[in-house]
Amino acid sequence: MADDSIPPPGEAAKVAERQAKTRAQRMKWRLANAEHRREYQRSQRAADKKRRDGDLALQQAHLAKQRARYHAESAETKELRAVMRSKYHQANREAITARMRERARQRREEDAEAVNRKKAEWRQANLERVRGTAVNWHKANPHSHKISNARRRARKRAAEGSYTKDDIAAIYAGQNGQCVYCQAHLGQQYHADHVKPLAKGGSNWPENIQLTCTTCNLKKSDMDHEQFLQRLSLRAAAK
Ligand SMILES: [Zn+2]
Repeated sequence: MADDSIPPPGEAAKVAERQAKTRAQRMKWRLANAEHRREYQRSQRAADKKRRDGDLALQQAHLAKQRARYHAESAETKELRAVMRSKYHQANREAITARMRERARQRREEDAEAVNRKKAEWRQANLERVRGTAVNWHKANPHSHKISNARRRARKRAAEGSYTKDDIAAIYAGQNGQCVYCQAHLGQQYHADHVKPLAKGGSNWPENIQLTCTTCNLKKSDMDHEQFLQRLSLRAAAK
């Protein structure tokens, strides 16, 4: 007695064979039409994006779907994605930077006040990080203050006039070897200071040179003589 529910011998093998053939055909088509298929997918994605761009609800739904998909991914996939992203960034660094700059410029143009407010808020909320960045910058650029000193020297060279050792000796004698500001005895630790700073167009002629102690020199910085005297007298009056 034959049981009809059991497929005739060879039937299951035939089904499997048919499926394998279909799969093979599909793969063959994909290989032969790879560019066509990619182009089709691209156009589909573009059409989707166009639809989304005009519709906030669709945009949000799309983002939610992407987020959900990302969170569902395994750690390995996430890592792979991060690697791909960083490779993309490396390969397109300039284009990305240009795009970000352009976007920032647009935002500033639209509402500079809002941008500044946001920046200030961020700095306030990230004080530690801001300070850390400054400290790291100084660590990474240990010669930055030397560069500004070099710039000052360059300015000095560009300034009109020059003075000699003899000029300094004469000025030293004229000041009785004392700092012009605090009258401290100078000894060998004095600074040739510009009465009118080079930064403000003062010259390098001896007439514009006076000798100060280190402390007064640092305090005076780029102030001119009158300004600094005023500052000193204000200090003295406050005491
Ligand atoms: Zn002094």
